[in-house]
Amino acid sequence: MLNVPPQAFPAPSSQQRVAAGGRAKVPLKPGRSLMDWIRLTKSGRDLTGLKGRLIEVTEDELAKHNKKEDCWICIRGFVYNVTPYMEYHPGGEDELMKAAGADGTDLFDQVHRWVNYESMLKECLVGRMAVKPIAAPKGMLPEKKVLGASARDLTPSYDWFQTDSLITIVIYTKQKDMNAELVIVDCEDKRLRGEIVDDHSYLVEVDLDHAVQEDVAVNIAEKVGKVEIILKKKDNIHWKMLGQALESHNTFIKRTERGLFYRKCKLVSKTEVTHDTKLLCLMLPRSTHLCVPVGQHIYLKQTIAGTEVVKPYTPVLPFLPLDFKEPPRHDGAHLYLMIKMYSCGLFTQALDHLQIGDYISVSNPEGNFKKSQVQTSEDLFLLAAGTGFTPMVKLLNFALTEVGCLRTVRLIFFNKTEDDILWRNQLEQLALKDERFEVQFILSQPAKDWVGKQGKISSSLLSECVKRSRKDSKVLICICGPTPFTEQGVQYLKDLGYSQEEIHTFTA
Ligand code: FAD
Ligand code: NAD
Repeated sequence: MLNVPPQAFPAPSSQQRVAAGGRAKVPLKPGRSLMDWIRLTKSGRDLTGLKGRLIEVTEDELAKHNKKEDCWICIRGFVYNVTPYMEYHPGGEDELMKAAGADGTDLFDQVHRWVNYESMLKECLVGRMAVKPIAAPKGMLPEKKVLGASARDLTPSYDWFQTDSLITIVIYTKQKDMNAELVIVDCEDKRLRGEIVDDHSYLVEVDLDHAVQEDVAVNIAEKVGKVEIILKKKDNIHWKMLGQALESHNTFIKRTERGLFYRKCKLVSKTEVTHDTKLLCLMLPRSTHLCVPVGQHIYLKQTIAGTEVVKPYTPVLPFLPLDFKEPPRHDGAHLYLMIKMYSCGLFTQALDHLQIGDYISVSNPEGNFKKSQVQTSEDLFLLAAGTGFTPMVKLLNFALTEVGCLRTVRLIFFNKTEDDILWRNQLEQLALKDERFEVQFILSQPAKDWVGKQGKISSSLLSECVKRSRKDSKVLICICGPTPFTEQGVQYLKDLGYSQEEIHTFTA
């Protein structure tokens, strides 16, 4: 049983009250947390007013239900009565009302396309749109979304061939700077999914003609943009065809329009980082090829009390490498997540209860950070608070390993107490080893004997800690932490004269 005190939940600083990406979140009334919503959906109450009947909804009918006390919204062709959900919506009633009596697919996708509304709102399902869905299901390629002629010229294509023992699928990406991070492959139970992702997504998705072995190899010819997916046949028989095309096969659409894909990963270790933060190591299936790029996050999905709940996490490295002479060898088989377990956190409590050997669903990576932002910088400042440190780990490693022009890299790390500082020893060792790197710890609730800096993010702290090494040096300032921290940080930096282009915030 989940131990969730209904009155105190969510706490004022909870993720359920605090928006990522600067969107306003409204304080929820007591008893209106996600867990409370899950409880209500399980209570057997008729949440649609239709006594369990599903109906076909016309556009005219949908439009009639446009008031708070009678509000229907269409999401991906399905119509939901969201009136009972109003008070539980972290974005507030006004945000939901923007789609009242209309198609809310784009609105929902813009805000949180990763939230599984199909599961969250399943008890509110009124029915399907009658004639045609207003928006297409995720991942489909409706006509209006076909790219323009010039973009279509860049549409990748694929081919396949076989030997006695192998099947090779070749994707011609028409992209010169291909790399392993842009290729995601999964193959499970004869279902092959190969995706080339950048700003757009190209997908090969087939139900294979015959069974293949578990391990999948991926070869990338970076300069010519050719990607080979090599599968081992289970039986050495001749295949007449590659397989049956699945619904999104051979489509090329904007990345943000492609639905998130999840695969099950095994928890192989769980180690303590601090009193409340753990490093989880997840093993990807042997048939998955997936690398999470610097600055990107993945989503974890768990079913909690019968409802699918999704939260974002930013993979880190197993430790901070100290020798930057060579880029670290990529270990494509494991994902490391540094996660703070909140004592009344809905998702983290369930995560903390996972046993070694248990499985959890992990999505494809997402995020808007581009390595090129660092590649042209001379001074890099990383402002991290609490677990906001996680995106800084790979970034730090990338900057010190692969960015030649960097003169200074300074991490300004805000925590409550000394016991909360993540990887303190490793950071201090790194600072000793690499003269470009400096770390400064700032505590908001220090013990009496703390001699370092104290306080929260402020204009005076930032004017002291963030300085160009030369008058005109190119600077990048990355910020990550609780939303108020990030928002205040951006404002102070702008007041200090830094431009929007010089600041990157990590958000979902
Ligand atoms: P909730 O149920 O949302 O909150 C329950 C309780 O947890 C609250 O009552 C409160 O006591 C406590 N709590 C939650 N959030 C906070 C907070 N910010 N400050 C103080 N108390 C809080 N988290 C990581 O640990 N590691 C990561 O790598 C990571 N990456 C992220 C990447 C992105 C892009 C984003 C947006 C968030 C990331 N998070 C990360 C946060 C994570 O997604 C969850 O929000 C977090 O794990 C809390 O989930 P929960 O369901 O357990 O807590
Ligand atoms: P925490 O509560 O331990 O606080 C750490 C420090 O953050 C505090 O010492 C303080 O200096 C600062 N801080 C906290 N609340 C503040 C406020 N209201 N105003 C100004 N400064 C404040 O932090 P935590 O529990 O580790 O939370 C980390 C946060 O980082 C979470 O909100 C999480 O969602 C976010 N996060 C985001 C990403 C991302 O990529 N967007 C990645 C990891 C974590």
